[in-house]
Amino acid sequence: MSAQRLDGRACATEVEAELLDRVSALKAKGVEPHLAVVIVGDDPASHVYVNSKVKTCGRLKIRSTHIALPSSTDEATLEQHIRELNQRKDVHGILVQSPLPPHMDEEALTDLIAPEKDVDGFHPENLGRLVQGRTDGMLPCTPNGVMRMLRWANIDLVGKRAVVLGRSRIVGMPAALLLAARGADATVTVAHSRTQGLEAVCKEADVLVAAVGRPDMVKPSWVKPGAVVVDVGINRVEDTTRERGWRLAGDVDPDVAEVASWLSPVPGGVGPMTIAMLMENTVRAAESVHPE
Ligand code: NDP
Repeated sequence: MSAQRLDGRACATEVEAELLDRVSALKAKGVEPHLAVVIVGDDPASHVYVNSKVKTCGRLKIRSTHIALPSSTDEATLEQHIRELNQRKDVHGILVQSPLPPHMDEEALTDLIAPEKDVDGFHPENLGRLVQGRTDGMLPCTPNGVMRMLRWANIDLVGKRAVVLGRSRIVGMPAALLLAARGADATVTVAHSRTQGLEAVCKEADVLVAAVGRPDMVKPSWVKPGAVVVDVGINRVEDTTRERGWRLAGDVDPDVAEVASWLSPVPGGVGPMTIAMLMENTVRAAESVHPE
């Protein structure tokens, strides 16, 4: 078997086409959706992510404000920026790029973002709504992107066994909640570093979502023949055959394609969907402030 490609780029292109229409409708009412992205420090990967978000805003005619602060910035200064952005009526979405420098309390700062502008979907109020099975909050972008990609591929989740490998606040746990939510209706197991018999647990999955941050960890022998495998991982691994000396690897060994029915590539899978869902949250935030 050779798995079909869960093509995040193709799916994101469709999402973007819908969003362009929604942005035009907002602009016709005199509203310009506006995302503010705050980055602290000089982590090169974070700057690549932020630039890509700002670039996508440009493509979708969403206004963006890019606030870059030095790594020496103190927490009070960042808090002040967040409070000002919360107050501004012309700003609909606020994103503070992770990771923040070690001297900052990332969770406490995320909590300061007004929930209705929390386009990352990490505020406790938004995660709490997700636990309650409500879809009126901001959904976290990466797990929501995974769900959108599964719908795009017409993958039926009802009654299926899903295993989420990883239990982080930003990917694993919300992905598990979305898979188990009414409407998706999968039966979900969450696995993590203390799980016993991990390989056997993964092998039970009809749908396996890997979000561990360990390059090529999920091997073909871990995967049930015909399973759907979503690779969330983005890992930099050394590669001396490339000029830059590294390449991106997912959490899933690419040979899994020989066993799975569907597999998302890295890059080009969940990554583009994460940005597309961020854009959707921004447009949604603008629409909810200025309803029909
Ligand atoms: P975290 O480090 O926050 O969480 C990793 C999870 O994997 C933890 O729950 C951890 O378990 C578990 N884990 C780690 N090692 C093992 C192991 N050997 N066996 C079983 N479980 C293990 O990572 P994130 O959730 O933030 O990210 C996961 C991956 O997804 C990373 O590669 C990241 O770069 C990528 N990512 C990709 C995005 C995208 O847009 N495509 C967006 C966000 C993240 P425990 O809780 O017990 O420590």
